[in-house]
Amino acid sequence: MIRSGDGRPPAMDTAVLEVVRRRTESTRVEIARELGVTAATVTNSVKRLLAAGLLWESGHARSTGGKRATLLRVNDAARRALGCTIDHDRLSMVAVDTTGALQSRVVLPLVDATDPREVSESVREGLAALIPDDELGAMTGIGFAVPAQLPEEVDQALRALTAELDVRATRGREGTCAALGSFWSGEQSGAGLSGTVHLGSTTTLSLLLDGVPFRPDSGQSLDHLRVDPEGPVCACGRRGCLHLYVAPDGVDELSRTALEATQGSATAQADVLAAALPLTRIAANLAIALGLESMVLAGTPVQAAPAIYLRAAREHFEDETTTQVVVSQVQPHPCAVGAAVLALQAFLDTGGR
Ligand SMILES: [Zn+2]
Repeated sequence: MIRSGDGRPPAMDTAVLEVVRRRTESTRVEIARELGVTAATVTNSVKRLLAAGLLWESGHARSTGGKRATLLRVNDAARRALGCTIDHDRLSMVAVDTTGALQSRVVLPLVDATDPREVSESVREGLAALIPDDELGAMTGIGFAVPAQLPEEVDQALRALTAELDVRATRGREGTCAALGSFWSGEQSGAGLSGTVHLGSTTTLSLLLDGVPFRPDSGQSLDHLRVDPEGPVCACGRRGCLHLYVAPDGVDELSRTALEATQGSATAQADVLAAALPLTRIAANLAIALGLESMVLAGTPVQAAPAIYLRAAREHFEDETTTQVVVSQVQPHPCAVGAAVLALQAFLDTGGR
């Protein structure tokens, strides 16, 4: 079953599009069966999606006796959605098509990610690189994966820029975007409840149910989960908080160490493994407690040294676990891909207008 929000038609449209996308090709009857809704509901949704040019009729299914059913496909050429994420030293932007497939990408270095002028100039530059001026109209919008501590002035500069360009902007938590990026890139086996632990500006857990964020505020910080009551003192006043173990000197430093680890430094490998073990222990506990179908580990350190995180995961996920463990490898940045998916979904939620 796909959750379709409060059952408003646009939410149903998103669900229908998602089913067709996942199955590559589908009939109205198959969609209705998968969503657990009536054929009439699906027919109405399909009518709107065909009119908006988001679906097309690709032929006929083999006859099963009666009238042959029409096959539907997602029109991947229809629209582009952009996604953007800002790290301390770079800005990543991607364009995805209506199926969520990556079309193009650009990564721009940032000298100062807290400088509103530099960030908005880079977004402008990225936009120009990804979407020619005359195709701006065919763009559904831009999604921003927002880190926990995005400076207010940067946020305002981005709002001013998208207003000036008359582009619809959507915002999502970086952890939720990482989860969506992973799901839409096909890293997870599919339906059910999936969790993504994302090592970003904070370490977060995001839940997706059949690919849809479980709660609007999915992406809660795990930073101050207590790992060891006897551990070092945290700035929050308590002892042994998770972030002191999983990214002891911050996530940027850990990403650098992870790169050194893949280049062969034994010290760096030991440091990353030491940070990966408590992370994967928490991830395994969460997977068991929530009965997750899949557990995704994401974030730049994970992406830089996937083999180490996988090795740490093997320590804590039992061989007989039913949870599929995924070390996310979405390029260039899972948050940027997920933010583009958010923009696409926001567009669909307004009925494709
Ligand atoms: Zn703390």
